[in-house]
Amino acid sequence: MKRRQEAPSAETRGFGFATRAVHGGARPEPYTGARATPIFQTTSFVFEDPEAAAAYFNLQEYGNTYSRIVNPTVAAFEERIASLEGAVGAVAFASGLAAQAATFFTILKPGDHVIASRALYGGTLTQLRHLSRKLSFAVSFVDPDDPDAWDQACRKETRLFFGETIGNPGGNVLDIETVAEIAHRRQAPLLVDSTFATPWLCRPLEWGADIVVHSTTKFLGGHGTSIGGVVVESGRFPWGNGKFPGISDPSPAYHGLAFPATFGEYGFLMKLRAETLRDLGACMSPFNAFLFSLGVETLPLRMERHTANAVAVAEFLAARPEVASVAHPGLPGSRYAPLVEKYLPRGAGAVFSFDLRGGRAAGARFIEALNLFSHLANVGDAKSLVIHPASTTHRQLTEAELAGAGISPGTIRLSVGIEDPQDLIWDLTRGLEAVGSEVEEEASACPM
Ligand SMILES: *Cc1c(COP(=O)(O)O)cnc(C)c1O
Repeated sequence: MKRRQEAPSAETRGFGFATRAVHGGARPEPYTGARATPIFQTTSFVFEDPEAAAAYFNLQEYGNTYSRIVNPTVAAFEERIASLEGAVGAVAFASGLAAQAATFFTILKPGDHVIASRALYGGTLTQLRHLSRKLSFAVSFVDPDDPDAWDQACRKETRLFFGETIGNPGGNVLDIETVAEIAHRRQAPLLVDSTFATPWLCRPLEWGADIVVHSTTKFLGGHGTSIGGVVVESGRFPWGNGKFPGISDPSPAYHGLAFPATFGEYGFLMKLRAETLRDLGACMSPFNAFLFSLGVETLPLRMERHTANAVAVAEFLAARPEVASVAHPGLPGSRYAPLVEKYLPRGAGAVFSFDLRGGRAAGARFIEALNLFSHLANVGDAKSLVIHPASTTHRQLTEAELAGAGISPGTIRLSVGIEDPQDLIWDLTRGLEAVGSEVEEEASACPM
């Protein structure tokens, strides 16, 4: 029988980003010749013989055993993301928050200390506050824009720095290189949530970050159909530096095997998979991995359109009288312009906030008048999305508490999709006109 055509080896030839987005991790399935990576919807895999099974369970050989830990469809997705981020490997999870929780479980022990940006995604702030109490580690939340704040928060127990490439609602762009240097001076790794940037806009590992997490739920999938997360690692952090015994010490479950000593640059990711994913069990399903791999094929095309549309919408809003301010880090005059130029030369993403004059009532009125923008709590969909935090996610907060979170009663957050920009502007114009009449009604109802 003739040999089937070999898959292009994205890794060896040094293909470009768009080629790796389509081919990374995928090769024709050797048994049937299926060109698309099949959905291996199976819990488990038959062993070749008892010796092979024993070798897998002792981690002497790497192979398919049970889909909580390894699955070929999920592995193809992991390899694709690792290739795009320039990482040594990747481990996929059931959600972005599961990916983060697994990272904390792998690195931290009771008594440790974490320094985190206070502009992290809201769900992450809640997760850190809650898990730190449950697991007895401490967290200092710092102003991500102030390198001294990161430095001054350091303690001798500090074991992790955690920031976000592009934060929200302020659009804070992290000075990754500077914060990585501060972390490395303390022999601690820098973890970056790069969900809003995706590897197309920024690859934090190239700037000194050690670990990157994504909620694949967002731009990587792009279709708003599936929840997922992924962790990638550089393979360069010295986990054997004596500060991370939970990673470097011999593991009783694997006959005293020490992960960094045995697996070298794969030590952290092997620990993350063979112990943390095994124990927490929050694995990505093969079906979702299939959908995410499909999504990633068009990531460069979508991100180009997302970022261009976002700039067009931000410029339109900045020129409107109903709008007090626009927090898009890519607009001229943004305080983040030098960081955008350095870290995000292809664009500063497609999620940003703006403030309406007229407060809570104006915000609600604006949202109600929109048609194309969907009112919901998500970002990174091909469809344009909108939310008014003061009347939804942050409804319980007082104005003082809102201000602490960088949100005003009139703050609106947009996730700009890939539709025709003139249609998005048409929709937003209707929303702003509704706000305008609200302001007029209030003015005319006012007894003079
Ligand atoms: C959505 C999101 C998360 C959480 O991811 P899930 O997949 O919802 O668990 C974390 N960080 C950022 C920046 C996000 O947008």
